[in-house]
Amino acid sequence: MTIQEIIQQLGASQEQLQRARSIVERGELRNLRRTSDGTFFCGECKGPNKLFYLTSARKTPDKRIVLQCNCGSGESPCKHALALLLALTSGRPFAPFAFPDDNRGGLVLAEPPKPASAKPAAKPDQTSSMLDKPLRIDFGGERWFAVELAQDFSLRYTDSESGKQYKTLPKLHADEDAEQAEDAKKQIAGLRKELRASVKSATDTLETALKERQDWSVQDWQPVFLTGTAVMRQAAQGLVWVARAGAQKAQAFRCLEDGSLVLLDGKQLTLPKNARVSLAQPEELDGQWEQVFAQAGIVPLINQLGA
Ligand SMILES: [Zn+2]
Repeated sequence: MTIQEIIQQLGASQEQLQRARSIVERGELRNLRRTSDGTFFCGECKGPNKLFYLTSARKTPDKRIVLQCNCGSGESPCKHALALLLALTSGRPFAPFAFPDDNRGGLVLAEPPKPASAKPAAKPDQTSSMLDKPLRIDFGGERWFAVELAQDFSLRYTDSESGKQYKTLPKLHADEDAEQAEDAKKQIAGLRKELRASVKSATDTLETALKERQDWSVQDWQPVFLTGTAVMRQAAQGLVWVARAGAQKAQAFRCLEDGSLVLLDGKQLTLPKNARVSLAQPEELDGQWEQVFAQAGIVPLINQLGA
């Protein structure tokens, strides 16, 4: 397949192609690797913030090209993935690359998003997310910003120099690079889109769980609410949960950021292996929980206590 055919298949514009060409010409690709069967190609592409994005291209058995990149620009295909394709079709050398034997684990590229579950309440979205760790963004100058999930489920930008926090991405300084700022903005736009989807998914899951009085085994509950997506973890920390095990008295608890579980009096709780966990219903609770959350500065994602 020629690059023009691939570009046509992917629906990329000539402008996108031109930006990808500049990347290749400026030598911003590194670590180009391919599998021996020629179905998988990957490389690292210089990003705006001294980091390298991981970009890959895979040929499917039906001869389609699937591109992936963790830049989060939201553009499909992004210029990094296109640059990888250009490097490929222009005969740049690719070193051998082998998947680990179990086909998992060694590959750090983002997994393709899992299809949305037909029953989101039963199987909430657990795909890994850019929100799971603070993102570092800069405009090519001295300062950089740490982008993180704030308590109110919006993004928060912390200036590395002043420590000042912002609700929106601050403006470019005179000594910074406008093109890098553009890239940073696109990256943030992608992140905000992901955040909106993640908040909606978590809200739907939790509201349904509360309304339908769903419960989970400890084994099913933990990976979703205690170690799941950044948004779901934070949402779960603002809710009161109840564990019921056999004939034992039901125990209301909340989750802390470090993954521990505590009762209203602050004592740690270890979930019995056979426990079923559910959201506490409003009638099961007294008002003290509200104070606990308010004191901790926690903003609940759904209205559990005041319902
Ligand atoms: Zn990219």
